Amino acid sequence: MHPVGYRQPITHLPPICPIDKDRTAATRWTTLTDANISYPFRARGAVESQTNRVVTVCPVHGNVLLLNGAAYRSVRGAPSLNLNERNGALWMD
Ligand SMILES: [Zn+2]
Repeated sequence: MHPVGYRQPITHLPPICPIDKDRTAATRWTTLTDANISYPFRARGAVESQTNRVVTVCPVHGNVLLLNGAAYRSVRGAPSLNLNERNGALWMD
């Protein structure tokens, strides 16, 4: 994961959660739609300094990706991740 604003060609199309059977992988960027993406993008308007801002949360598993590139696995039975909405954005505190 690269900081926001760093432009590098992405060779793999956005992944689909392995359990999400309602979506199929896009084969080209030009045909990519919401039907090919499992993970809702939560970081519109984010700036690079917002390192604990959530980029996405897997709607099936609850795994979280932060803007700083850190990924957190949601584990059943473990304390839940501390996610909080503020000012229209989702943060991990
Ligand atoms: Zn998932």
